[in-house]
Amino acid sequence: MLSEFKNVLGANAVLSNQDDMQPYLREWRGLYQGKALAVVRPSTTQEVSDAVKLTVSYGLKIIPQGGNTGLVGGQMPDDEKNHIILSTDRLNAIRTLDSQGNSITVEAGVVLERIQQAASDADRFFPLSLGSQGSCQIGGNISSNAGGTGVLAYGNTRDLVLGLEVVLADGRIWNGLRALRKNNTGYDLKQLFIGAEGTLGLVTAATLKLFPKPKGKQVAFMGFESPHAALATLNIAQGLAGSNLTGFELIPRIGMEYTYRHLEGARDPLEGEHPWYAVIEISSGRSDAEAEALMAEAFEMAFDAGHVNDAVLANSLTQQDAFWRLRHAMSEVQKFEGGSIKHDVSVPVSKMPDFILEASEAVKATITNCRPVPFGHLGDGNIHFNVSQPIGADKDAFLAEWDRVNTVVHDIVAAYGGSVSAEHGIGRLKAKLMPHIKSDVELDMMRQMKRTLDPDGVFNPGALLP
Ligand SMILES: Cc1cc2nc3c(=O)[nH]c(=O)nc-3n(C[C@H](O)[C@H](O)[C@H](O)COP(=O)(O)OP(=O)(O)OC[C@H]3O[C@@H](n4cnc5c(N)ncnc54)[C@H](O)[C@@H]3O)c2cc1C
Repeated sequence: MLSEFKNVLGANAVLSNQDDMQPYLREWRGLYQGKALAVVRPSTTQEVSDAVKLTVSYGLKIIPQGGNTGLVGGQMPDDEKNHIILSTDRLNAIRTLDSQGNSITVEAGVVLERIQQAASDADRFFPLSLGSQGSCQIGGNISSNAGGTGVLAYGNTRDLVLGLEVVLADGRIWNGLRALRKNNTGYDLKQLFIGAEGTLGLVTAATLKLFPKPKGKQVAFMGFESPHAALATLNIAQGLAGSNLTGFELIPRIGMEYTYRHLEGARDPLEGEHPWYAVIEISSGRSDAEAEALMAEAFEMAFDAGHVNDAVLANSLTQQDAFWRLRHAMSEVQKFEGGSIKHDVSVPVSKMPDFILEASEAVKATITNCRPVPFGHLGDGNIHFNVSQPIGADKDAFLAEWDRVNTVVHDIVAAYGGSVSAEHGIGRLKAKLMPHIKSDVELDMMRQMKRTLDPDGVFNPGALLP
């Protein structure tokens, strides 16, 4: 079988040696060690189709993998006899860019940062922005419907996709790469594959929306007494800037302390300590001066109303980047503090401050001296409610409490009418939760879709659907 794959894809595109496969089998958080028969790396859509047909003919299963930065194990195979990783890392051409039509067509393996750069080179803007943007690929972003820091103004990945090309479970190629803003001709099939976590087909290319490149930007770093005060400031900034408010990211004091300890060159932008902070970005289609004026007005209004303790407005691009760096490092720095039990939750925006305080008290009552680190996308009502182990505790013993802590947090999420996976997806990590978070009708419709598009369960068994 491996020599047949090599005949079809080329000898270098098929890996079966354990050492060669390791980068594809190791997951970012170290929660999973993957097991697979082989990794195949097609470089064209036709090769993907051939690889799918070949895999099916041997009765094997396909685990699609992009940049391998997913946080719920969806890209991790777990069967060394039957699972083939289909990596898109060689499917990496930017096919076309239409600057007047504001669209770009790229293959699934193009790294997100490259798309941002290509858009910028054409004086356009691609707003999807994640901490993993130097490694994650657009096919993975689409399949996980990634969120990130640009959702506030531009929406999730789903809102940025105009068309898709997909290889189906029988190897047929569906070319839906239409760059249309309007197209009411029946079911919008591309939506099925967005956020499907590789369970319905393999995304090989996408046509994406581009936007005018903002001509000006201002970033501020503000300190608050409570998440309620941060939310009040968000409302003021949104009222003034509307969709030009392009970022509002919450960081707790403990998160800042982690960055000072573990992020090289990190320093506190504000004097004194504040319980909560936010990185706030306002953009302008005209100039830096307009963005600065809006930010200054938002700060003054929030300060006068008693919501903001202190703030600093960036005085250079370097300082803007330094503020964002503090936020983007939040996932990374937690690794140095021992075990961390994660939650990627959303609740209605107005309820988020209450949720944060209630969930923090609840986990502290569950595990004495554990350290809640709730951070992230306050403006989207999406917080990464992570819980670090108590200082000096045994990491494994703490992580053994994962399910118990999850239950405490998820019960509060449910009481607030929220979701237990706001942006990272379900993958293998949360598949067991599906019967508890979806109604029978929803699960039945999802299973029917799966049976229709992938009757033999070729794509990503074990992920998403229990
Ligand atoms: C430091 C860090 C910060 C992060 N920040 C964010 C954030 O702010 N917001 C956010 O949403 N996520 C975030 N993530 C999670 C992750 O980066 C995103 O989920 C990303 O979209 C995954 O892309 P990937 O290419 O790495 O996909 P992978 O991890 O390789 O795969 C993810 C899922 O998509 C499937 N898949 C991949 N490619 C394809 C394809 N071509 N066709 C069909 N299925 C496919 C896989 O089978 C898997 O189920 C972060 C991760 C890290 C490590």
